[in-house]
Amino acid sequence: MNPYPELTAIEVAALDAGKCPDCGSEHFLEGPRGGMNVNIQCARCKAEFNIVPGLPGSFGKERISLPGTAFK
Ligand SMILES: [Zn+2]
Repeated sequence: MNPYPELTAIEVAALDAGKCPDCGSEHFLEGPRGGMNVNIQCARCKAEFNIVPGLPGSFGKERISLPGTAFK
């Protein structure tokens, strides 16, 4: 189970624009891939998301960590 709340429309729009919903940084580090999905980590605040690259909208996007908690 994903313990984090679903992404809001505003957060989804930020990710679609290539920005971190938490701090606005445009720099992400790529983590592990799984199928079509890839984990991305904000280079500034360390928030992590699982997304489907190139697919706009909420489908396939979820938060996998909060700011300040890196890949553990
Ligand atoms: Zn960030």
